[in-house]
Amino acid sequence: MNDHPATVPADSERWDALIIGAGPAGSLAAVLLARAGQRVLVVERHKFPRPKVCGCCLNQRAQQLLRRADLLTGLQTLQPVSTQQMNLHYNQQTLPIAMPGGLAISRRAMDSWLAGEAVAAGATFLDECSAEVLPESCDADSAATAALPECRRVQILTARGSSVAAARVVLVCDGLGHPSLAQLPGFSSRPQTGARIGLGAVLSAAESADWCSPGEILMAADTGGYCGAVRTEDGSVNLAAAVDSAAIQAAGGPRQCLQRLFATAGVRVPEAMGSVQVRGTVPLTRRSTRLTGHRLLLLGDATGYVEPFTGEGMAWAMTAATLAAPLARSGIINGWSTALQQQYERQLRDAVVREQTVCRMLSGILSRPWLLRLTFAAARMVPVAAGALVRRVNRVPNLVERS
Ligand SMILES: Cc1cc2nc3c(=O)[nH]c(=O)nc-3n(C[C@H](O)[C@H](O)[C@H](O)COP(=O)(O)OP(=O)(O)OC[C@H]3O[C@@H](n4cnc5c(N)ncnc54)[C@H](O)[C@@H]3O)c2cc1C
Repeated sequence: MNDHPATVPADSERWDALIIGAGPAGSLAAVLLARAGQRVLVVERHKFPRPKVCGCCLNQRAQQLLRRADLLTGLQTLQPVSTQQMNLHYNQQTLPIAMPGGLAISRRAMDSWLAGEAVAAGATFLDECSAEVLPESCDADSAATAALPECRRVQILTARGSSVAAARVVLVCDGLGHPSLAQLPGFSSRPQTGARIGLGAVLSAAESADWCSPGEILMAADTGGYCGAVRTEDGSVNLAAAVDSAAIQAAGGPRQCLQRLFATAGVRVPEAMGSVQVRGTVPLTRRSTRLTGHRLLLLGDATGYVEPFTGEGMAWAMTAATLAAPLARSGIINGWSTALQQQYERQLRDAVVREQTVCRMLSGILSRPWLLRLTFAAARMVPVAAGALVRRVNRVPNLVERS
């Protein structure tokens, strides 16, 4: 978004809210807080626009949350592709599952647009800046902080140098493994044993002609993982996979692993897959030991992660932003309290963590060959059940409707 390298914010400049990470959680929270009159700084590690390993499917819950924030019309101007149906391929067979009402949009376009909306609402956005929250003990030692009581301090690193910013509330929206909390004792993000790795790639429109029609979510599954493909707003096909590291090794690399996965499932592999650049993630499924701290709230993937088979990670991130923004504002205006932290944890548990049970169950099925075979056969006989499951993970929880 910036054409020039980021400037380092003034040392110990004070903000109402400092938001780390400009994914859907961070940027939506920034929009909501800036509109509510708070002075907001968003700090993003990568230069925007940037790609992201993601299936790029925005489910109905995510769309409802954007509509609630008066943002859905803006998203529509990016011309996302409406998705209608998932074709699940497994063991040379296909199961069509109706999934009307979804949208496919590249993360490059969507995240950049949403960060732009935060700026339009009054937030300051700095990309190419990496943030680390400093331990509270540093506050006690710092002469600068004496002049800035009731703040949390964050170190900001850019190519031009580093500085320390202070904020009444810090929202940690930095995704998988919450790297910005590395210096905080007690905050760790533990991957589940055997957690799958995320892989992502993009095939241009020319490279993927006659493959994956617009509006289709093409999903290939085998015992080593699964990969989804969807055509996005610029005509290219986005690929996103969750695979076992053993499957990557056995195939001889990430690209070969994706090729093998499609072939085993019974999907023709486009020629360009032989040379496509594949990006990877850290192990996916994980839990964070803490969701809040003093003047700190964690949102989105920073709170933990469940495999994204039905495409709801962005909706969960936006749910957290919708819940966190009013509580953060209350902490800024009325002062911080542990009651506020507890309220956020409770709301997050009710609106997101409980919902993730369905997806945990799904990923459990997908990682057990015999159960996958059985479920696939059952879903082919009763396709209505698969549709009902999809509708279940799409609904907006009452708690968010009320907040
Ligand atoms: C294979 C795969 C497929 C998926 N498919 C879907 C799907 O189809 N639909 C769906 O809804 N979800 C999907 N997800 C999940 C979705 O991508 C995430 O749940 C969602 O992006 C979480 O949003 P977030 O804002 O919490 O974090 P992110 O989107 O990860 O954003 C975090 C941001 O923080 C920045 N950052 C990190 N560290 C720092 C730092 N120290 N300082 C400053 N900035 C920092 C990062 O650069 C990044 O921009 C998928 C995920 C994977 C891995």
